[in-house]
Amino acid sequence: AKDQGKNRFLTFENRMHEQLLSRLDQESRLRDAVHRGELRMHLQPVVSVPDGQMVGAEALVRWQDPQHGLRQPGSFIPLAEETGMIVEIDRWVLMEACRTIKQWQDDDPATAPAWVSVNLSAAHLEVPDLTDRIAYALSTSGLPARCLVLELTETILMRDIAVTAARLEELRELGVKIAIDDFGTGYSSLGYLRDIPVDVLKIDRSFITGMTGNGRQQELVNAVIQLGHMLGLRVVVEGIEEADQLALLSVMGCKFVQGYHLGRPVPADELRVLRAAPAVL
Ligand code: C2E
Ligand code: CA
Ligand code: CA
Ligand code: CA
Repeated sequence: AKDQGKNRFLTFENRMHEQLLSRLDQESRLRDAVHRGELRMHLQPVVSVPDGQMVGAEALVRWQDPQHGLRQPGSFIPLAEETGMIVEIDRWVLMEACRTIKQWQDDDPATAPAWVSVNLSAAHLEVPDLTDRIAYALSTSGLPARCLVLELTETILMRDIAVTAARLEELRELGVKIAIDDFGTGYSSLGYLRDIPVDVLKIDRSFITGMTGNGRQQELVNAVIQLGHMLGLRVVVEGIEEADQLALLSVMGCKFVQGYHLGRPVPADELRVLRAAPAVL
């Protein structure tokens, strides 16, 4: 029995060792991913209601991992945030998004999105030269500032509201737009609307899931849309997966939607092909 206990312990220790090695391995491989050109940017369309035109796009990062294939952000962003690598990843996505959309606008202004939004992590908001970085991305790409939206989640904004507000004011002076992402999932959603200079509200998918069978939830979504409009904000509703949800939102006067029902995130080239055959979107 004693021996068995000892074996179990060794197995446990081995497993811990393995996990640690795998984490270190992942960390170093993620660190190299940027330099090796393994990151990919996908674009998901933001569509205007009721005409169904693509008016904007959100840039979402993927990792073409030579060992595991194409990876979704959920499988590597947490590690990137813990290690600070997220700043470099965000920076890459920012450049790629500005470059791609500017190119598209030049090539084919009739089908190009009018704006592109990129996600900024908490760590990034604290980088002292963030404003310079954004200005640099805009000037090297030639993308007009008004075509760039920076998406920040409520959890990020929560940190130090005075510092954050000053930071965002600085960014807005460049002419870029600020969006509150996942709106409604934080602790003080209304507080942000009062204290933080924002241009866009993105209503979180959790408010849309199950909405069609739930009158109370519909009223809530409707109220938030109206609130956003009264404050002069652009309101984008996320996570539309069904035609019924779109129909309801349209009745509510919702003007911008995003979700699998309208289009999944795909590489820019693929989106351009879809746009060339508008029946698909
Ligand atoms: P997010 O910013 O809220 O992005 C929306 C996520 O919802 C995306 O997942 C998108 O693919 C997914 N989505 C869109 N429409 C639907 C729908 O109709 N149904 C469902 N079930 N999902 C939908 P994705 O690409 O896996 O990204 C997950 C999260 O990872 C993002 O959430 C964002 O927080 C983070 N992320 C992605 N790219 C970046 C990046 O470049 N930088 C940073 N800092 N974070 C990123
Ligand atoms: Ca987002
Ligand atoms: Ca979101
Ligand atoms: Ca989210």
